[in-house]
Amino acid sequence: MKTYKLGGGFLLEETPVDEVFTVEDLTEEQKMLAKTAEEFMDREVLPHVERLEAQDFELMRSLMKKAGELGLLAADVPEKYGGLELDKVSSMLIAEKLSKYGAFSVTWGAHTGIGTLPIVFFGTEEQKGRYLPGLATGELIGAYALTEPNAGSDAMNIRTKAVLSDDGKYYVLNGNKQFITNTAIADVFTVFAKVDGEKFTAFIVERDTPGLDFGPEEKKMGIKGSSTRALILNNVKVPVENVLGEIGKGHHIAFGILNIGRYKLGVGAVGAAKYALKTAVGYAKERVQFGQPIANFGLIKEKIARMNLLIFLTESMVYRLAGLLDEAMRSLSPGDPDYPKKAWDTVAEYAVESSVVKVFGSEMLDYVVDETVQIFGGYGYIAEYPAEMFYRDSRINRIFEGTNEINRLLIPGMLMRRATKGKLPLIPVAARVAKETLTLIPSTLPRPEGPLSEQKFALQMVKRMALTMAAVAADRFKEDIREEQEVLAALADMVITVYALESALLRALKSGDGLMERMVELFAYEAVKHAEWRAYSVLPYMVEGDDLKAMTSMVRKLTRPFTPPNSVGVNREIAERSLEREGYVFEG
Ligand SMILES: Cc1cc2nc3c(=O)[nH]c(=O)nc-3n(C[C@H](O)[C@H](O)[C@H](O)COP(=O)(O)OP(=O)(O)OC[C@H]3O[C@@H](n4cnc5c(N)ncnc54)[C@H](O)[C@@H]3O)c2cc1C
Repeated sequence: MKTYKLGGGFLLEETPVDEVFTVEDLTEEQKMLAKTAEEFMDREVLPHVERLEAQDFELMRSLMKKAGELGLLAADVPEKYGGLELDKVSSMLIAEKLSKYGAFSVTWGAHTGIGTLPIVFFGTEEQKGRYLPGLATGELIGAYALTEPNAGSDAMNIRTKAVLSDDGKYYVLNGNKQFITNTAIADVFTVFAKVDGEKFTAFIVERDTPGLDFGPEEKKMGIKGSSTRALILNNVKVPVENVLGEIGKGHHIAFGILNIGRYKLGVGAVGAAKYALKTAVGYAKERVQFGQPIANFGLIKEKIARMNLLIFLTESMVYRLAGLLDEAMRSLSPGDPDYPKKAWDTVAEYAVESSVVKVFGSEMLDYVVDETVQIFGGYGYIAEYPAEMFYRDSRINRIFEGTNEINRLLIPGMLMRRATKGKLPLIPVAARVAKETLTLIPSTLPRPEGPLSEQKFALQMVKRMALTMAAVAADRFKEDIREEQEVLAALADMVITVYALESALLRALKSGDGLMERMVELFAYEAVKHAEWRAYSVLPYMVEGDDLKAMTSMVRKLTRPFTPPNSVGVNREIAERSLEREGYVFEG
């Protein structure tokens, strides 16, 4: 496989423009599916938000059933078991369009993702036949129970214990699970426990199994219409046939499935942010102060522009990833008995990108909803108006599917692991680039040609900086780098910046859209400055004396040759287009 197509390969090699998937490449069929999902949300879900927020779980369940009837729960389930087995782009589009209401999005996401996929990938034929047809239609609702009171981020530390019964027919589970989404409505739980207190294992536990009890609903800050409760397992007898995957290998399921949750969360953030932006733009056009709509004011336009920019970046990143996944999946044959394992490995290949879009998407959404509140002014703070709920609902995204801190640690950690396993030529490339960069005179480098040439050059410089900093950090800390969290997070931020800039740049080049190009000009300059700041934030900790002087001068050289764009002018242009379109500038 070409390096740029490998997971994490975007750091090492340029991706040719025609090799990137963008939203502009959607087929008519995919657009129709997106429309179905959006209409379902608008007609069936949004009119009932008040009842759902009051935790009418029967209504939530019936809405999930309706979603199932429309095929909106079946995208990732094999046809053989009643699913639609759609491409990843389609499955992402559904996730995006169902995200206008956070509580529904979380309910749907937990069911179709972490609630269903462990069985899709690891179930035996018998388990798949028993559960998947119901999960695909919404007859059954799924949930995933990993977290415990003392094991959140540190999920390997779970205490729930499974012991084989004397007759060898059951595992007896004891323990407590915390914060389990869909508990009020779920029929099937994937529960993680340690066999004999040691071997991490997944079990399929049915709701009515004796000994399985539930805590009260948590009183949450947001996504109030979703159910979050504790599970109490008191001598729960789970038949041995309900062991999912292999004994002692459950952690692969537990953590691997989160990769899918992460990219879906990224695309969900796009859907939620577009809706918040639309609401904010509508309000800004209506609200009159000083004798004119507040939308006329430069500072409101600046907010609207930035919201659009961040959505554009995230959208470019998530659909690029979906395209990569689809391309890799197309090389597999569904008839192959090893297909589930190979499909699983394909998702794992892009774990770095999945963490990248999770972090960027969740932080983008927090920014967008925060500015939505600000555009609503005092009314943004009042529950009767929509901004308040958007603001509360967004916040969970930085916490679940691995907190953003954990994901920031995972990004360089996974890259290094792939490098040491020989799956990504990171080490030789970083060493070569670092050596070259330390003596480099950027003005002597050949400049890229064609449209956005300066931004292509900016991308090269940011990549160069990320690789050089990775090499310096690896050299300085060796194995102990795991303990250097601030350095790892700085590296993660550079990697995220590279992926964001490159995804947007490739999309703008592919589409030739003038406004996209100007948005890339805005972001490229910011990306260089952001990478520079992240490098400076850790360099004095890593090196000192003459080395520090040399490294600082190197960073300065890489970041100096760029002219600031006319951000006021471009922001006004973006905002005006957004106001005209009453929402996101590139909405289809
Ligand atoms: C509404 C909601 C729904 C949820 N749904 C589910 C579900 O369906 N199934 C499920 O299994 N779980 C679910 N969770 C649990 C969720 O995944 C955890 O809350 C999350 O993983 C964080 O764990 P924790 O809450 O124990 O926080 P902690 O792990 O205690 O983290 C606290 C803080 O410390 C930081 N931190 C922790 N470890 C490190 C470290 N090594 N380095 C640096 N910083 C660190 C974290 O980033 C965080 O900022 C849900 C939670 C909520 C609130």
